[in-house]
Amino acid sequence: MPHDGAQDGHMPFDGFQEECAVVGVYGTDEAAVHTALGLHALQHRGQEATGIVSLDDTIFHSHRGFGHVGENFDAASGYLDKLIGHAAIGHNRYSTTGEPELRNIQPFFSELAFGGFALAHNGNLTNADRLRQSLIQTGSLMQSSTDTEVIIHLVARSHQTDPALRLVDAMKQVEGAYSLVSLSPLGLIAMRDPHGVRPLVLGQIGEAYVVASETCGLDIIGADFIRDIKPGEMIIINQDGITSTQPLAPQPSRFCVFEYVYFARPDSVLENQHVYGARKNIGHELAKESHIEADVIVPVPDSGVPAALGYAEETNIPFDFGIIRNHYVGRTFIQPTDLGRQTGVKMKHNANSMTVAGKRVILVDDSIVRGTTSIKIVNMMRQAGASEVHMRIASPPTTHPCFYGVDTPDRDKLIAASMDTDAIAKHIGVDSLAFISIDGLYRALNETGRNANAPQYCDACFTGEYPIAPGRSDGHSTNGIISK
Ligand code: AMP
Repeated sequence: MPHDGAQDGHMPFDGFQEECAVVGVYGTDEAAVHTALGLHALQHRGQEATGIVSLDDTIFHSHRGFGHVGENFDAASGYLDKLIGHAAIGHNRYSTTGEPELRNIQPFFSELAFGGFALAHNGNLTNADRLRQSLIQTGSLMQSSTDTEVIIHLVARSHQTDPALRLVDAMKQVEGAYSLVSLSPLGLIAMRDPHGVRPLVLGQIGEAYVVASETCGLDIIGADFIRDIKPGEMIIINQDGITSTQPLAPQPSRFCVFEYVYFARPDSVLENQHVYGARKNIGHELAKESHIEADVIVPVPDSGVPAALGYAEETNIPFDFGIIRNHYVGRTFIQPTDLGRQTGVKMKHNANSMTVAGKRVILVDDSIVRGTTSIKIVNMMRQAGASEVHMRIASPPTTHPCFYGVDTPDRDKLIAASMDTDAIAKHIGVDSLAFISIDGLYRALNETGRNANAPQYCDACFTGEYPIAPGRSDGHSTNGIISK
């Protein structure tokens, strides 16, 4: 086992499905420090737990713990001093329900026939349940309740000798969405699923290479962006340099459209699109589709800000901050219960009455999922004296859960799965409500439009058209693990 400074704690925790961040660095003695900084820039992708495994010659070192990157890898903790070596991988974990469990924090590390093997993964394997059951029945001892561990067992059982070929063997058996990084005596391996659902980018700083979920993870350490890792591509980085192979035949690209809508950081560039620019364009399209007369455009901070700016540019109506956000509260979704979530929203936002009193307000937000946030915000606007409250949403109605790594509630909790736009408008108490259309969303992303036979993004959360078989349709696995 590596040196493991893992701590215990009590944070809300999920056994299976989460949006996450990965980082990998090869070729510098600062590998762990760079990885920690990259993870810090990617904190928005996961706040429950974090971890880094470093490789020094053939010796692995590791720290995994609950909480934010800064809390775990600050100077006082001393953990970074112990994470020596020329290579490192790291992970931020996002989860919402279930018990906190140290054993689920990544990167995972195992001693395999060829030596140490560390793995961190963002995404969700849709056939993990089946693979897991068959692995258990044939003697595997599972240490965690994550799909990531399934990959490790498949690597361990492969008859190949080379770690990269073993990983290819494993990934040929799994289905789903993943961007992964791994460390072994061979070096750093990064890999992306054949549809390229989750992001993964490659960069360089001096002689060292860096992979990260988003380009903001490169910017923070001054690494130059080289390119996106391609769907189905495997990259091996070691003392011989960098090698790219295409062991999994690429499928039609299905990059997650929700990364542009909400998940990614606005300063990232993913798949040749600046996320901030994409969000502003969405605001422009939204205004073209569903504008209504008003006095002020108010974003729901922070996620609604770029779309609201685009909306204001399109309509020439003043943009103003009518809601102030308290930045010391995490994303509202991470509260595990509905009660906690409601309290979380109150703690997070407050009306800025001087900008909205007596005015017809257009609120712009990125998405409505359960509807809890919208009810609170609309109420706040009315209490602050807004004369009319209209809501414009920078994504189509979220009608279906994600099976590929973005945490969404089960279908019965998605307000748009059971209510049409008029009913939602009544429920959240607005004078009018409109969502951007799916075609409008595609237009905003500079695509030629959405062809029903070949959508260029994964948009299953808005359309129910899943590009990869999502597994059991009720979203629950057979072993009690939640996999929405
Ligand atoms: P609600 O409608 O109350 O469930 O919350 C919707 C808000 O949560 C949106 O405006 C987003 O800012 C945010 N949100 C949407 N999807 C997610 C997600 N998968 N994880 C975390 N936050 C999300």
